[in-house]
Amino acid sequence: MSECLFCRIVRGELTADIVHRTDSLMIFRDIAPQAPVHLVAIPTEHHVDAGALAAEDPGAVGALVTAADQVARLEGLTDYRLVFNSGALAGQSVFHVHLHLLGGRAMGWPPG
Ligand code: AMP
Repeated sequence: MSECLFCRIVRGELTADIVHRTDSLMIFRDIAPQAPVHLVAIPTEHHVDAGALAAEDPGAVGALVTAADQVARLEGLTDYRLVFNSGALAGQSVFHVHLHLLGGRAMGWPPG
């Protein structure tokens, strides 16, 4: 997955504002934030989307959510939104699974 944007961030070939990192996951600030706090949590291994991650490494899904919740609290959030976009029609533009963590403002429903 040499050309994958997020794999390149994992390898340190592209810079990112990393707020949390372990051997198996990373959380960094979204480059185009849609809320006062907008982070993306990714597994360091490449999986295309949330469904693929759940099938190929089920434990990693919970690990992403747990890490996102911990970082949300460190960011001062009590209320926040977690989003997996799966597929282009759902808004996915980077095909390395990532969990969006958004917070710091009131949010509407349904999302656009
Ligand atoms: P999605 O559209 O759900 O695939 O989300 C991809 C997200 O990655 C978008 O919110 C982008 O703003 C974000 N993004 C793209 N490139 C970078 C980057 N180099 N560093 C941080 N976030 C990025």
